[in-house]
Amino acid sequence: MSEEKSLNFLEEIVETDLNAGKYSSIITRFPPEPNGYLHIGHSKSICLNFGLAAKYGGSTNLRFDDTNPVTEDTEYVESIKEDIQWLGFQWSNEFYASDYFDQLYAFALQLINKGLAYVDDSTSEEIAALKGTPTEPGKDSVNRSRTIEENLQLFQEMKEGKYKDGEKVLRAKIDMAHTNMLMRDPIIYRIKHAHHHRTGDKWCIYPMYDFAHGQSDSIENITHSICTLEFIPHRELYDWFISQLNIFPSHQYEFARLNMTYTVMSKRKLLQLVNEGFVNGWDDPRMPTISGFRRKGFTPASIRNFCERIGVAKRENLIDLSLLEFCLREDLNLTAKRAMAVLDPVKLIIDNYEDGKTEYLKSENGPDDTLGHREIPFGKELWIEREDFMEEPAKKWFRLAPGAMVRMKSAYIVKCTSFEKDEKGEITAIHCTYFPESKSGQDTSGIAVKGTMHWVSVPHAVKAEVRLYDRLFRVENPASEEGDFKDYINPESLVVIHNAYVEPSLVSATLQDRYQFIRKGYFCLDKDATSNHLIFNRTVTLKDTWSKEMKA
Ligand code: ATP
Ligand code: MG
Repeated sequence: MSEEKSLNFLEEIVETDLNAGKYSSIITRFPPEPNGYLHIGHSKSICLNFGLAAKYGGSTNLRFDDTNPVTEDTEYVESIKEDIQWLGFQWSNEFYASDYFDQLYAFALQLINKGLAYVDDSTSEEIAALKGTPTEPGKDSVNRSRTIEENLQLFQEMKEGKYKDGEKVLRAKIDMAHTNMLMRDPIIYRIKHAHHHRTGDKWCIYPMYDFAHGQSDSIENITHSICTLEFIPHRELYDWFISQLNIFPSHQYEFARLNMTYTVMSKRKLLQLVNEGFVNGWDDPRMPTISGFRRKGFTPASIRNFCERIGVAKRENLIDLSLLEFCLREDLNLTAKRAMAVLDPVKLIIDNYEDGKTEYLKSENGPDDTLGHREIPFGKELWIEREDFMEEPAKKWFRLAPGAMVRMKSAYIVKCTSFEKDEKGEITAIHCTYFPESKSGQDTSGIAVKGTMHWVSVPHAVKAEVRLYDRLFRVENPASEEGDFKDYINPESLVVIHNAYVEPSLVSATLQDRYQFIRKGYFCLDKDATSNHLIFNRTVTLKDTWSKEMKA
């Protein structure tokens, strides 16, 4: 049954505005600060901003909110662009808040000229001390009554570099008794003698977020400026600047940010993980960054579906990481190519199979025949998974054991006849016989078996490194635990297998390919792989093992 999906609150606002003729078309923006790589929380905002514009025939700008010269970098700009495009979105314009520095400076002059801004020599401590509390009004700074001429002169000098960092600020002159603390004469410009990644050393004063953001929206004629809930108190100030400057009336709307279990989401924390070596860079597959998910093998569609499924809320909540993994499996199950890989190999020898013979057997590439098939080599000696053999089988054991029969995937039924052990008691080889008439697809043997196992032909197998990734944190909400969030890192978040064997077709794997290693999970080639050193990353297990383990 198809049911019309109800509109989320932002779609309702947009439809109301369009129906009322308030705008002929909408313009949204995605405004990242280039001080880190994008994370999965940002993808929520990206899907929302680009999705709304696409749905209503509008457009979306990418605007780098680069007003803080100290933490920003071109490397981040490039990564952000790559990630947005990988997610499947294209911006109409690429803008930088720093492109508006001249305009913002002119806006500041306008406020000063209207008697609505003043230069304050107070230190940040003095400013804080006079700010008051939510229940007590603040007090005026002694500099609040400076004349317009004096303010113009001092602000000019601030710009010219006459003063050191922190020596003076420009503040909006609003109301020191305002119920909204952010309206108590907020700082709008500060002195910072720092090199900016785009404007170089042209400026030594920089606008504060609140003074840059709304006006940048307005300069771009943004109709719906969507941000996260913590900006609710900023809306009043956003509107105040726009109204005092009498510029295009952009409007701010807030939604709940995405928080996810087993994950930290702030760039500041992610930067610590990178800088302190807990992970191998921003795109480490354990990172909740878009580049980390990409490297781990996530598909853009799965992330978009996830963002669609979680919807747009007005209240903060914690989304289960397994929902993202569910969306991923749903996609990969249909699209990933099937392949065979043995991660912990032990040799199986088919005693009644001809020495040196190779048969090429047809095996389907997908869950059905829609992805075609390939030919895989089969012979007398196969690698199988060590855990698929039990000397003394448990009840309901459908895999190999002395006397037991199983089907080798896409090949024959074999029966275990004996096994060899070394002096340490470790199994070194398993012997079987096979039934020639049981060939997959043309089985006339009449033998029914319950188990099917994956395998790789020994002489054709290709050695590979396999990186098994797991959740980076071992607690649901690391940021809310006592002490440092880094104390909660899962020590088994990465397990490296050096001697796995994969089927020979995987030699031609590309970074775009997604695989299901049969019975083992979803995998993809890692960017560190070379033609003589294959490396595969586990994207996700076939089933959600965590929810079970956690409850046990
Ligand atoms: P962080 O706290 O992780 O550094 P931020 O909000 O400072 O994030 P920005 O680069 O300023 O990061 O964010 C760009 C846009 O992405 C903003 O509109 C912001 O509201 C949005 N955003 C950031 N984190 C999330 C999140 N977890 N869920 C939804 N949207 C987010
Ligand atoms: Mg920010």
